[in-house]
Amino acid sequence: NDLRTLILDRIRDVPDYPQPGVVFKDITPLLADPKAFGAVVDELAGAYRVDKIVGIEARGFILAAPVAHKAAAGFVPVRKKGKLPAETLEESYDLEYGSAVIEVHRDAFAPGERVLIVDDVLATGGTARAAVELVRRAGAEVVAIAVLMELAFLNGRERLDDVEVRSLVIV
Ligand code: IMP
Repeated sequence: NDLRTLILDRIRDVPDYPQPGVVFKDITPLLADPKAFGAVVDELAGAYRVDKIVGIEARGFILAAPVAHKAAAGFVPVRKKGKLPAETLEESYDLEYGSAVIEVHRDAFAPGERVLIVDDVLATGGTARAAVELVRRAGAEVVAIAVLMELAFLNGRERLDDVEVRSLVIV
């Protein structure tokens, strides 16, 4: 469809970034195009009725903040460990080499609030899985995870079988 083409034409493949053999999906051309960026934000903001939009550091922030504004929802950051100033909950997850920790403020949600988690790319699903756990532990309900692009060959969706995953483009 139109939105799919609008997105696909503006995501650039960068070979060997951040390491040899990886093809990185670069969304900066899409962000630089007001029509495409606006269409993506409108699509994500219109899909769910939620209280809070969670953005995952760092590219998730770029999408989640305008979506929150458009959806008249609050914005909540999920950040890499050590960046949030107040009391946090943390969740660790495995990377290809080693592990990572993300955090959310303990008081980020009122009990039972409805939450949409937003990120740019769904790859192995490790990041999204950890974000779902964080939001639930913080007392809120994950309505869905929405991403611009899903890399289907990495099977991230398999790790998210208890939550709705909405991808604007699947490659
Ligand atoms: P996962 O945890 O393996 O699913 O990786 C997803 C996270 O890594 C997301 O926060 C993405 O922003 C980032 N990521 C992984 N691959 C790419 C890519 O090709 N382009 C942009 N971000 C990526």
